[in-house]
Amino acid sequence: MRKRHALVTAYLLLLTVWADAQTVRLKYPPTGFVTERLSVSDLEIWKTIERIVFAEDKEGQSFHPTLRNLWQWVETSGHTVFIEFIKVRGVSNCTAGLFTIERFDPLGEHHIAVIKLNLTNINLAYVGPETRKPSGFVPFIGLAKQERYAEVLGHELAHAVHILTSLERVRLVEELVQQTNQMLLSKHSKRQKAHQITHAELSRRVAKRDELLRRLEEQAEQMEQVIWQELVKGKRLNSKLPSLAENKSDKREFGFAIRKIPSPDQTGKK
Ligand SMILES: [Zn+2]
Repeated sequence: MRKRHALVTAYLLLLTVWADAQTVRLKYPPTGFVTERLSVSDLEIWKTIERIVFAEDKEGQSFHPTLRNLWQWVETSGHTVFIEFIKVRGVSNCTAGLFTIERFDPLGEHHIAVIKLNLTNINLAYVGPETRKPSGFVPFIGLAKQERYAEVLGHELAHAVHILTSLERVRLVEELVQQTNQMLLSKHSKRQKAHQITHAELSRRVAKRDELLRRLEEQAEQMEQVIWQELVKGKRLNSKLPSLAENKSDKREFGFAIRKIPSPDQTGKK
């Protein structure tokens, strides 16, 4: 009888330990990139992007050092960055890519963030004079499909590294950008009352948010231009890169073709 009691106790103890481990796992996902939100086919695309990021010449020199450094920083940062792919055309808050904070750690040790890439919008992006930046840079020009994904990933990684390296910036993004967006979303719902914010206060918040977003975009766009230059240069240096970057069935997508779609307003904003 006593023996059976001991066995039951041990079993219950084991269950408690297992449950605790699951809770910890839920509370603290692994650090670096977490791809568990990707489907099997998405994972293949992600691996192709990874191969582009780490492509190097015969001497082991990276073709895309900026992109690779940003990637490696995230992997070793101690923060979690979930990867998600969106395949819906024209989702307003994710034109090509999006970086958001899912959980802010006040100690700055383990933030949880997410990078979303809208593959459909990237595929359909208009590339031409209308999307030329003041610096002369035209996003995506000269790049194949998966290389464009890598460019957008680079833009979002630039946001990730710039924001996650400063606790103050993470706090600002969480409080000023994301909370303001939530307030705007719930403007006409009951939840607005919970915020207890006046119209004037909300307008001030939106103005501050837009100024912060402008500064963040400026930084990410500069990095994206450098990444685009490396992608184009790497492609020129390694004529084998197309077979690395593209599936055989996608060959017609490769090259310097410019794809036009009727609505240029789908592009440019990341
Ligand atoms: Zn951006």
